[in-house]
Amino acid sequence: MPELPEVAALAADLRDRAAGRVIDRADIAEISVLKTYDPPLTALRGRIIAETGRYGKFLDLVTEPAAGSGPGGPLHLIVHLARAGWLRWRDNLPEQPPRPGKGPLAFRLRFADGAGFDLTEAGTRKRLAVYLVTEPRLVPGIASLGPDPLDPAFTPEVLAGILAGRRTQIKGLLRDQGVIAGIGNAYSDEILHAAKMSPFRLAASLSADEVAELHSVIVGTLREAIARSEGLAAGDLKKEKKAGLRVHARAGQPCPVCGDTVREVSFADSALQYCPTCQTGGKPLADRRMSRLLK
Ligand SMILES: [Zn+2]
Repeated sequence: MPELPEVAALAADLRDRAAGRVIDRADIAEISVLKTYDPPLTALRGRIIAETGRYGKFLDLVTEPAAGSGPGGPLHLIVHLARAGWLRWRDNLPEQPPRPGKGPLAFRLRFADGAGFDLTEAGTRKRLAVYLVTEPRLVPGIASLGPDPLDPAFTPEVLAGILAGRRTQIKGLLRDQGVIAGIGNAYSDEILHAAKMSPFRLAASLSADEVAELHSVIVGTLREAIARSEGLAAGDLKKEKKAGLRVHARAGQPCPVCGDTVREVSFADSALQYCPTCQTGGKPLADRRMSRLLK
């Protein structure tokens, strides 16, 4: 799933490619991806992409009326790529709207010059979401976001306030969008590995020094990932993300820091990876699936 660094890179890539282009049409190929109906997608016709941005893992395309045409202020085309969605830039899109079907295409934005992008998601059930709103905060998932970890206002004191009194595991807390915006399963694994902290530590049990270290690792890990993705086109981002990860999705491989074998704990619909030597004093964490298999 694209997380804060990938969405930031997508926003930057789209700014380079699409800013100033006039929108011809927006089409949905899968009805369930469009979460709003007022204003309708037809309101985008003739508008230009003025700016791009990001809220947590949400991508924001700010559109404005082309000079001298049409009423109204900005309209925000907001995209959440969910677990398996992706954005694909196309230099030449057909003039005809896409036919709804069972393929990966979920949404298409076409500019008047024929270029544009597709939002795709494999599988019959599309989870990616598109919103057209007059203000980003009208998207419920944006209104409920916690602080952005790259905002200067996200200080070690703010993080301490977030963790204080929470009897929940740090791994789950880091990827809770209502607590901190933009961190998902992959970067929470990476952050905890870099902080040499067990994913099962209780948030409230961190000392002041550990909170300060965790804060610096959160900001550093995300900034490094953004720096690696800078200047990459959408098509190259996934490969780059994968290459930059140290423990996430690397169970069975050696930890690049200490050489121990990266291990996994699996849950109903996800899994976490960690290094026992770096993070849990050399002791493997209990894994329900593994223990069930061994019974
Ligand atoms: Zn290690």
